[in-house]
Amino acid sequence: MKKILVIEDEQVIRENILKLLKAEGFDVTGAENGAKGLYAAVSNVPDVIICDVMMPELDGYGVLVALRSNPVTATVPFVFLTGKAERSEMRQGMELGADDYLTKPFSKAELVGAISSRLKKQEAVAEQYNTLRSQSSEFIQKNADKLEQIKTCLCNALEREEFQVYYQPQVNVHTGKIMSAEALVRWLHPEKGLISPAEFIPAAEETGFIVQLGEWVLQTACKQMQVWQNAGFSLRIAVNLSPRQFHQPDLSSRVAQILAETGLEASSLELELTESLMVEDAESAIATLQHLKNLGVCISLDDFGTGYSSLSYLTQYPFDTLKIDRCFISNITDGCTNAAIVKAIIEMAHSLCLEVIAEGVETEAEKDFLWRYKCDIMQGYLFSPPLAAADFEQLLMAGK
Ligand code: C2E
Ligand code: MG
Ligand code: MG
Repeated sequence: MKKILVIEDEQVIRENILKLLKAEGFDVTGAENGAKGLYAAVSNVPDVIICDVMMPELDGYGVLVALRSNPVTATVPFVFLTGKAERSEMRQGMELGADDYLTKPFSKAELVGAISSRLKKQEAVAEQYNTLRSQSSEFIQKNADKLEQIKTCLCNALEREEFQVYYQPQVNVHTGKIMSAEALVRWLHPEKGLISPAEFIPAAEETGFIVQLGEWVLQTACKQMQVWQNAGFSLRIAVNLSPRQFHQPDLSSRVAQILAETGLEASSLELELTESLMVEDAESAIATLQHLKNLGVCISLDDFGTGYSSLSYLTQYPFDTLKIDRCFISNITDGCTNAAIVKAIIEMAHSLCLEVIAEGVETEAEKDFLWRYKCDIMQGYLFSPPLAAADFEQLLMAGK
């Protein structure tokens, strides 16, 4: 049974309305002034409120404002009863959030008509809301199922040893010597072939699988570097750390354990982080970085210039290396603003005692530019793309 609250100070009118509506099958309540009406509305939320405008003390406008500001009654349909159909009075009521108005005296048909049209509208809104709610929960469930499937698929790939670590040389701009290698993961899919990390790292990050995968990459790369160092090649290994990995509470002890297991010196490992990690919780990020630094590991800031790029990060955080993003290196020789930006970054990094690596160096002209402006290290297709371990080893042997 639909509940109607009638707030009207004139007893005769109030009782008349209540009687009429009761006869129509509504569950009715009457209130003789604004304050009582407000209390009745909040304590037993009705389906429609009929309220007189002119009442002593708290008038109809006051009741409406109070109802609309309370989340419990904010959307209850509200019909004003006005003594005269003055435009200004009606406008004021509608602007305050009334849904309809009736001018006294009104007929039974007008009263019942106003109430039923409000109820119909309210039902339609509720139906729409329910549909949307079930659609969105269905969507969330489908999305969760899909993510779960992706995670299973990635876990299976790791178990079947379909992931591989490729290595890209980082070369001293001035001597041409390979100083380090960046470990870059690849997925060798049995049907789809070699899949780039850009295609699966975001899903791995979203599903949390990156923690497992990242640890595997770290382990594999450290083990490989130890093999190369034992063979007489002195170089460092750089490994990317994703935000999820970075936020693992036991990160530094996991890194320490992997170094102990593989026998690699901490100073031979460089962890690459992106700027997005620095913005969320600076204090805890600095603490995590400090734990890693205490192990003796080097930290580099990857993709510099593409993210939040606050220069204050460079002084606040204990970085060793700054990697200028590829987007600043391409076109560097066209006399465009990139040249000025790269020159400024190199100078600033050096004055903060940071080593500078330029990413994505593809041409001799870019290399010459970096040489002229004293960039320390370069990485890019000009020297070599990322290579499988065996091919990287060939490169090391050729340069030995
Ligand atoms: P990144 O860490 O900035 O790695 C450099 C990317 O630039 C690599 O892409 C590399 O192949 C590419 N690159 C290097 N030189 C050149 C060049 O001269 N020209 C062009 N056009 N590209 C060049 P890749 O291997 O596809 O990796 C993409 C991104 O995926 C990486 O960006 C890194 O953010 C992420 N990623 C790769 N491996 C891992 C991993 O093991 N863990 C995590 N968390 N992320 C990884
Ligand atoms: Mg990187
Ligand atoms: Mg990068």
